[in-house]
This record gives sequence, structure tokens and C-alpha cells, in this order.
Amino acid sequence: MSEPTRYQTGPVELPLRLDPEPTPVDGCPYCTELARVRSWARAGGDMTTVSDCNVFLRRHPEGHR
Ligand SMILES: [Zn+2]
Repeated sequence: MSEPTRYQTGPVELPLRLDPEPTPVDGCPYCTELARVRSWARAGGDMTTVSDCNVFLRRHPEGHR
């Protein structure tokens, strides 16, 4: 369980209540991997992991611009 203590201000941070799933960025290995893990997790009904992946897809450490 990760507890974010600081907030990154990204270029795209939309205050959406509906929380649409982020899409992987083309050519980003992190996104590609996260999207793959997410699809596995969803297939296995592991919604916790799915939402974790979504969080990381939005802002993983080695972000893109
Ligand atoms: Zn990425």
C-alpha cells in the first residue's frame, strides 16, 4: 500500500469524478507494462491491482511530457 505524501503537478491533471481509465502512452515501456498488468488483473478480478495500475499509468516515476 502506497501513501502518496507529495503531489506532482502534471500537465494533465483533470479533476474528474468519474475517474476514466488512463490509456498507456505510445512508446513508453512503463505504460505498456502497466497496461499489461492491468489487463491481467482485470481478467483475474483483482480490482485493487487494476486501480493501482491506473494510478501508476497516470503518473509513474519516470514520466513523460
Ligand atoms: Zn508512461
